[in-house]
Amino acid sequence: MSKKICGYICKGCGIGDALNTAKLAKAAGEQGVKEFKEHDVLCSPEGVAMIQADVDAGYNALLIAACSSRVKTDEFAFGSQVLVERVSLREQVVWGLSEADEEDTLMAGEDYMRMGAIKLSKSEPPTPYQLEGEVAKAVLVVGGGVAGMNAALAAAKAGSQVILVEKEAQLGGFLGKMAKLGPQTPPYRALEDTKVDELVGKVSGLDQIKVYTGTTIDKTEGAPGNFTVSLSNGEQVRAGAIIQATGWLPYDPENLKDELAYGSNPNIVTNVQFEEKAKTGDLSGINAIAFVQCAGSRDQNHLPYCSAFCCLVSCKQAMYVKAANPEASVYVVYKDVRTPSQSEEVYREAQRQGVIFIRRDETYPSISGSGKLTLTTKDVLLNEQVDLEDLDMVVLATGMKPNNPKVVDAPLVAFGEDQEKAKQMTEEAKAQNEDWSILNLAYRQGPNLPTLKYAMPDSHFICFPYESRRTGIYTAGTVRRPMRVSQAQEDGVGAAMKAVQVIRAAEVGCAVHPRSGDETFPEFAMQRCTQCKRCTEECPFGAINEDDKANPLPNPTRCRRCGVCMGACPERIISFKNYSVDIVGSQIKSIEVPEEDEEKPRAVILVCENDALPVIDMAARMGKTWSPYFRFINVRCLGSVNLVWIADALSKGIDGVGLFGCRRGEDYQCHFIKGSEIANVRMSKISETLTRLALESDRIKVSEVGINEVETLMDILKSFQDTIDTVGPNPYKGF
Ligand code: SF4
Ligand code: SF4
Repeated sequence: MSKKICGYICKGCGIGDALNTAKLAKAAGEQGVKEFKEHDVLCSPEGVAMIQADVDAGYNALLIAACSSRVKTDEFAFGSQVLVERVSLREQVVWGLSEADEEDTLMAGEDYMRMGAIKLSKSEPPTPYQLEGEVAKAVLVVGGGVAGMNAALAAAKAGSQVILVEKEAQLGGFLGKMAKLGPQTPPYRALEDTKVDELVGKVSGLDQIKVYTGTTIDKTEGAPGNFTVSLSNGEQVRAGAIIQATGWLPYDPENLKDELAYGSNPNIVTNVQFEEKAKTGDLSGINAIAFVQCAGSRDQNHLPYCSAFCCLVSCKQAMYVKAANPEASVYVVYKDVRTPSQSEEVYREAQRQGVIFIRRDETYPSISGSGKLTLTTKDVLLNEQVDLEDLDMVVLATGMKPNNPKVVDAPLVAFGEDQEKAKQMTEEAKAQNEDWSILNLAYRQGPNLPTLKYAMPDSHFICFPYESRRTGIYTAGTVRRPMRVSQAQEDGVGAAMKAVQVIRAAEVGCAVHPRSGDETFPEFAMQRCTQCKRCTEECPFGAINEDDKANPLPNPTRCRRCGVCMGACPERIISFKNYSVDIVGSQIKSIEVPEEDEEKPRAVILVCENDALPVIDMAARMGKTWSPYFRFINVRCLGSVNLVWIADALSKGIDGVGLFGCRRGEDYQCHFIKGSEIANVRMSKISETLTRLALESDRIKVSEVGINEVETLMDILKSFQDTIDTVGPNPYKGF
């Protein structure tokens, strides 16, 4: 494309008062942006109209020097074929450097203009990736329980064809096995019918939903917009997206033999077994019964987490007993009653009906008896021992495990700091993976969705519910996290919306979040590939397969555009149209580095666009200021940082390089799963090289900062500045 470039400088928000705009334009001119216009308020309708008129006249590459790229995104968008590069003069210069002197502020402004201009000059408009052949538009739902059926209905309602695969002979899942449902409607006190037949009828009655019962998945191949799925009945179906709603497994009570005498008496049963009894039998013969909460939950030796449904279920089941025999003595022995939101009303209703709640501590009650049972516990509220005798039954309120193989993502774990622990976790995961699979993915990275510690196939539990680490494959309901029926209903709908979106994204050739709408994708200059496999192994999303000669085979519709592969590739042959090793390297090289005697050190800070950039913007907005010697450069993810950029910076005489990204670890919030971890490992490897070159490794700083951690950011910036002052000028300055 022939590029027609124009630059725009906004003089609003204090920019015009603080900076000499003619000098800024001159600096950008050195890097190829020769034409400039100024406006008092560029984001105003008049300012935008001025730019639009230029676009209409054929300008297709715009340098907009105004506020942060995170604001005014609608105003400064002119279609995907018009390149827009934003220079954050407001946040990163005028606000963030308000305490600096005029000369330093201008030097920073000029550097940001040069960096923006060179990036714009080297970027190309994207050509959206198009799958070969027709995009498959059907949504495949695996699992016909509450979440799966609601996902199927929601996708159908949104206009999609749906294929619903259920391994049992009929739809319904656990809902079909329940006697009653907890209250769903105000005032949330009365138990309700499950209405499972109605739900199954709705699903079965829709032509748009093709149901396969008694069927499992033999193989899943392909990518979003183009999955080919082989079913156990010998049929093959095509789907554009997949929702795994395979539900939960009860925690195995065999593990509770020691603690709660499970198996010693047939009247010690789990909540699931009791539900079955309630559905099929008569409870009127029960005169005394106790429910034991947290049976193997919130216990490091069993399930460490709270399933957040067992307290509600015990209240419901206690009410079954009271309904069958109002005179029955019903006890609930609990650690904490956890009945959030409207479930609280069920707890109150159970109390109103005479159910007695006894609070215990961490110690499990002792349960004994060969005929009638005795339960002994310490009531911590009354501080006395309680013996419940002549019990007909004891119900163990066990928790939920996801119905999913546990597969801790080995590369993710391997990037952890504690390598011994990483090895142990990987081994444990391998041991627990019973060699079974639900989706049987034909992916180079393995047949199952990667999981975190509890076999929940998570991607980013804070920002991206339903996401797995395999793009286009979503999870819904209790396979994702423990939840109750009403939440699983909503979950199914949420996942269905994600599935519909990813199919649309495959059609138009753009990314799903966090870079929603991005039409660039990694391009491989394959003639220089050495088949080292780093890109395949490090891609957090399993987007790259490989052939039998180890050539990478990218699947662009699986790709989230993080650039981790670009950072990994030692041959530097992976690039995006507007993000490449060359572009960022050129940005770094465009920074003016003053001579040593000017005593104006320089540090480049590569900031991840998901957490670090927003917190810098927030700090600026809050009136925080930092050293005028820092230069921030946005990167898609710290995992995309190629080591050559560090070399570029240091060989140019830049005194320090910072990498600021999201938090990592088991409770990570990295939007691309492991960017900060990868950056840490890569940087630890180059510190040896630095020492060999007589450069202090302190010049490189990798820091983690959460999106809301302004004070942490300020501390990190301050300490980095102190370090640079201490280590002194880069000896390569001036070479
Ligand atoms: S950009 Fe990210 S998601 Fe895409 S192939 Fe590279 S590493 Fe994988
Ligand atoms: S990292 Fe680069 S050189 Fe290695 S296999 Fe991937 S594309 Fe080829």
